[in-house]
Amino acid sequence: MIGGMFPFIGGRPSLNFVATLGRRHAVPVERLPDPEALRRWIGQAYGPAEPYEISAADLTEARTLREALYRVLTAAMRGQRPDPGDVAAVNAAARPPDLTPQLGEGDVRWRADEGVRAALSAVARDAILLAGGPLMKRVKKCENPDCSLLFLDDSQARRRRWCSMERCGNQAKVAGYRARRSG
Ligand SMILES: [Zn+2]
Repeated sequence: MIGGMFPFIGGRPSLNFVATLGRRHAVPVERLPDPEALRRWIGQAYGPAEPYEISAADLTEARTLREALYRVLTAAMRGQRPDPGDVAAVNAAARPPDLTPQLGEGDVRWRADEGVRAALSAVARDAILLAGGPLMKRVKKCENPDCSLLFLDDSQARRRRWCSMERCGNQAKVAGYRARRSG
């Protein structure tokens, strides 16, 4: 796939980070295949940052955290207690200093002494506030079975069924229309 195509439609940084593994119920699509992809995701999620290093070990750590986040969030969606090991991993990731916003020339630049760790901390903190707070009941899974993306339903009626109309909603409508025509 083309580099840099990350879905940013979850409505929260932690949900967008979880979405870097796509099609979880089909053949998963790894959107963080190398450290540079992780750097691109962080840049797109948080904006321009001061230069920092990303090692292969950082990438492994990021993917491990991502899967712990996914399990914690889906447990919360089902009203189940999350696995204590996953909770410990997410809490540990949230402890280092977060990315610090710095005012540039009319824009925001992020800086951190440890770029990756700070970005993962920001993502973990977001997930904790989400999973432990009142917005959790608005987190949904896209109804397209091939998609499975988690998103925050911020619509007034709270009846959103798809991650986005463009990606999955229109597909479902077309499929439903075809089924009605042929049935
Ligand atoms: Zn979807």
